[in-house]
Amino acid sequence: MKQNYCLRCLEPLEGAQASWTALLSCEKKNLCESCSDKFHRLAPPWCLHCARPLSCTESCGDCERWAKTRHWSGLLTRNISLFSYNDFLQELISTYKYRGDIALAEVFKEPLRNFYQQYFTGTTPVPVPLSKERLQERGFNQAEVIAEFLPVSYKPLLVRDIHEKKQSKGSRQDRLRGHVRPFVFNNHTGPLTGQHILLIDDIYTTGTTLRKAALPLLENGAGRVSSLTIARS
Ligand SMILES: [Zn+2]
Ligand SMILES: [Zn+2]
Repeated sequence: MKQNYCLRCLEPLEGAQASWTALLSCEKKNLCESCSDKFHRLAPPWCLHCARPLSCTESCGDCERWAKTRHWSGLLTRNISLFSYNDFLQELISTYKYRGDIALAEVFKEPLRNFYQQYFTGTTPVPVPLSKERLQERGFNQAEVIAEFLPVSYKPLLVRDIHEKKQSKGSRQDRLRGHVRPFVFNNHTGPLTGQHILLIDDIYTTGTTLRKAALPLLENGAGRVSSLTIARS
């Protein structure tokens, strides 16, 4: 179906849609030029591990620190985000996430598919789950909506506990790892035998949540865990 208005500001999309360049490129326009210009797209040079913009591609200071921290090293192989988190994106994501305007998520479809194909072919997408409570109040999981845009189908391999378990009640392994565990492995078909799992979420902030989500996957046989996120702050 041909959409001829901007998904964000609802202004009609003019001329460009019919031009030769638009016809020849496979990219479907769903934002007007002025909205589209407000995205800060991420591209190399960036941090090899978290996609933070850098002057040359290497590991950033934060990722160096993660790698040296005993409980956290080796959990997340790589994060790539599509955009820098700015005011424009914050507004867009909250309109979509809290007001349930799912159609707006369409603007992420093309770049998500491109990044998946460019960097993560062969990986198994797993959306970061919401707790049951949160899911009921919101009605949908934004990470699942995004994961549905990918060229391969996702697997719901994680469940999120409503309340994070108290540290003292955790297993010895939990205490060794030194974190609370909001995520549990959810798979009835057995261990993951070396698969590269790709966590899908909207925002990469410190990377802590994604690392917590990676832990049960690695413990259940995943070879590596990376993440693809819409924005990084
Ligand atoms: Zn617009
Ligand atoms: Zn980094």
